[in-house]
Amino acid sequence: MTAAPSKSELLAAGRERVVAMCAANCLPVPTVHVVPHGEWRLSRTCAFWRRDAIYVCPERCAAPGVAGRAWSWPGYAVDRTPYGVLAHELGHHFDWHLSQPATRRAYSGALSAEVREAAGEPGITSYAEENAAEWFAEAFRLFVTNPDLLWYIRPRTFNMLRGRIEPVEERPWHAVLADALPRTLAAARTRVERAARKK
Ligand SMILES: [Zn+2]
Repeated sequence: MTAAPSKSELLAAGRERVVAMCAANCLPVPTVHVVPHGEWRLSRTCAFWRRDAIYVCPERCAAPGVAGRAWSWPGYAVDRTPYGVLAHELGHHFDWHLSQPATRRAYSGALSAEVREAAGEPGITSYAEENAAEWFAEAFRLFVTNPDLLWYIRPRTFNMLRGRIEPVEERPWHAVLADALPRTLAAARTRVERAARKK
């Protein structure tokens, strides 16, 4: 186990993953605008997507969680670090671009609603319950950062996404989380085992 990555390292890794996902799926790469804390005007969120651009305030994103109820970790089911946040916002980008133009709204399209309905599985986090667009973006985040973990804990959601979208992460879930804290690895293992019993 190594030290938890810094927010700037996570932002850089997130940018790389955004570029790789867009290249693998022949989509335009959204511009990432990093907004300083003092200029950020939204209280409830640390990032948003608007056509072909992601605005993110890293200071408002979570750091990797090392204790208590802070569970964010890059590649884990809970990930509000800059890495996970960029992957989530990329979900809105994919939803919008892969939806029929007539179904597009400000930051979503018909794809998110179709995938949620067809998968019929709960969201990855409580944030996913807001609406179909957020449900999709949370599932997409894990599809980008740790698709093997998504396959275990939300198999139908994984299959729906895999039918349309090419992932770039190929390692098994525990290899993605090899540098995570023991408690994060244990929590992921519990989720995997609970999902396996249900199958
Ligand atoms: Zn969102």
